[in-house]
Amino acid sequence: MIIAIDGPSGSGKSTLGRMLARALNLLYIDTGSMYRAVALAVIEAHIDPTDTEVVTGLADRIEIDLVGDPDSLSVLLNGRDVTEEIRTERVTAMSSIVSTIPGVRRAMVERQRTMGRRGAVLNGRDIGTVVFPDADIKFFLTAVPEERAERRFKEDQMTSSSSATLAETLAEMIVRDQRDSTRTDSPLKVAGDAIVIDSTGKTIDEVFQIMMERVSNVHRHH
Ligand code: C5P
Repeated sequence: MIIAIDGPSGSGKSTLGRMLARALNLLYIDTGSMYRAVALAVIEAHIDPTDTEVVTGLADRIEIDLVGDPDSLSVLLNGRDVTEEIRTERVTAMSSIVSTIPGVRRAMVERQRTMGRRGAVLNGRDIGTVVFPDADIKFFLTAVPEERAERRFKEDQMTSSSSATLAETLAEMIVRDQRDSTRTDSPLKVAGDAIVIDSTGKTIDEVFQIMMERVSNVHRHH
């Protein structure tokens, strides 16, 4: 079973993806963390992100591993644990830039298909449209920008991964969503057969119930 979860940042993809993976005993693949790992590698190698050929070469070469359970997923870059480092503002901004490069996307999509083919919950921006267009079930999560920014802001405060204010978080999110939605290669968009869930004003558990119901319907029809 392959479950695709797409949507803009702060829409609840990772929390709900983890919950679904745990409930259904599936592998959880956070594809955003892979683009973040590429971004960190670019920063550390002092590469110019506009040099698409060099960035693509790096993306092809680096080793990225996602290890552990959905709840305590660690991201390894060339064997080194970078789980926390990839959440900084600098890496977030860079991930949105390197993910516009077609060669980088090609490399990541290939890895995601290999990792997920035996069954997984994958979250990202292009899972239902590009990575697994034949996924058993596709969700597209949304919420109004203010609510998404607030969620991300609270998360950042808890993990103290960012010192940005709520207004800064909102502004950064709008820039990133805009870039993700307007890029030529695999822009963020709703797959024709996706189930769209607007989580504005809903609790995590309410959204989880809606998703689980849809999943059990798919099960029944198979
Ligand atoms: O999901 P997350 O916010 O961690 O992703 C970081 C960035 O990686 C996104 O802003 C987006 O530019 C990129 N991304 C992507 N395709 C995916 C997942 C993430 O382009 N499937």
